[in-house]
Amino acid sequence: MDENFLLQTDTAQNLYHRHAAKMPIFDYHCHIPPKDIAEDRQFENMAQIWLYGDHYKWRAMRANGVDERYCTGDASDWEKFEKWAETVPHTLRNPLYHWTHLELKRFFGIDKLLNSSTAKEIWDACNAKLQTPEYSVRNIIRMANVHTICTTDDPVDDLEYHRRIKASGFEVSILPAWRPDKAMAVENTEAFNLYVDKLAEVSNVAIDSFSGFMEAVEKRHQFFHDNGCRLSDHGLETAIAEDYTEKEVRDIFEKIRGGNDLTKVEMLKFKSCMLYEFGIMDHSRGWTQQFHLGALRNNSTRLFKQLGPDTGLDSIGDFEIARPLSKFLDKLDLQNKLAKTILYNLNPRDNELIATMIGNFQDGSVPGKMQFGSGWWFLDQKDGMEKQMNALSNLGLLSRFVGMLTDSRSFLSYPRHEYFRRTLCNLIGNDVENGEIPHDMKLLGEMVENICFYNAKAYFNFE
Ligand SMILES: [Zn+2]
Repeated sequence: MDENFLLQTDTAQNLYHRHAAKMPIFDYHCHIPPKDIAEDRQFENMAQIWLYGDHYKWRAMRANGVDERYCTGDASDWEKFEKWAETVPHTLRNPLYHWTHLELKRFFGIDKLLNSSTAKEIWDACNAKLQTPEYSVRNIIRMANVHTICTTDDPVDDLEYHRRIKASGFEVSILPAWRPDKAMAVENTEAFNLYVDKLAEVSNVAIDSFSGFMEAVEKRHQFFHDNGCRLSDHGLETAIAEDYTEKEVRDIFEKIRGGNDLTKVEMLKFKSCMLYEFGIMDHSRGWTQQFHLGALRNNSTRLFKQLGPDTGLDSIGDFEIARPLSKFLDKLDLQNKLAKTILYNLNPRDNELIATMIGNFQDGSVPGKMQFGSGWWFLDQKDGMEKQMNALSNLGLLSRFVGMLTDSRSFLSYPRHEYFRRTLCNLIGNDVENGEIPHDMKLLGEMVENICFYNAKAYFNFE
């Protein structure tokens, strides 16, 4: 992993070093806690900043035969790090191997490979640095040359930490993003009702009907907007676009508020209505909407009961994507209320499907209004990124792509942008060497800079 890591041609090397490397990072979707930025948290050790909350690493450790005690359990931080270090050599050819060493190199200047014999030395060296002020959360973000970060927040969140960050004058833009999954999670009657009660409280709206519910949601959407939010995000198996009437939705809402479980059909109608209404809200305030489609979540009941969601129990699903997605987008588009939209698929089988679906709803109002999102989650690796960019190139406009995001829960994940940029430059470099695109460094350099930064900056148009 020298300076030309992943860059197989002279053109790729030139594009990366002269154009991509200097671009700031525009991280428009991630899961890092704004609290840590507000408090400018100082991590005590590498286990805390690296292993807590990172289900990619837990999955690798479990696959390597490591007991759960060392992944999410009560082992000490050093024991957890040691088990991770023992696992790293076994991650060869998995992106974790590259990410791990890029992160050690870029943030800590460590060139050694992590394994059981280097574990203690690397642990001590990194921890000593982490405990200095230069390695506070904000300084780590500065070190990575980050321009903007969008977190992921629930509509009932008071955004207190975002306000504190803003008031502190931190020069990196830290913006909230609206993730209203719980406002349509009607599978669990009790949890949904508790959520509606909380929503009533924070919005100061008495929710005794569906219209009260929508008034409260709308108020929160405005509140998020007032706090700089311009972006929503939805985690869905697939788009939901059943037909429904207003009366049906009002009755469904009353039924669940009365403590009664909904039928499957009622759930689908309610969710279809909410998804559409969220789309209308996003359009009305000029936001971008994101859809993360295709995860089959919480597959292991045994571990789920022990650990809860987002703990590495998810995989790629095979849902019907095209027809409901088309119906959903078309309904909004028919009324000229389709917001800028980014679609992410988890099943690589759907790459061409998504790349062609976005073409249906490009309307000439904004370059790249409909976006095919960067390789997501299991596809966030060299092969997945190349396939996503090839599908987008073949069926749409790669040059208008808003590029990479970390989608991470760790403050050390920014080298994933570097990994993406190298992969992008390498793809273009290979095309030049093959004589398929011109060796026009001005044209190519601009395209690379746009995909790394300027496209996202212009597209989201945050203040
Ligand atoms: Zn995410």
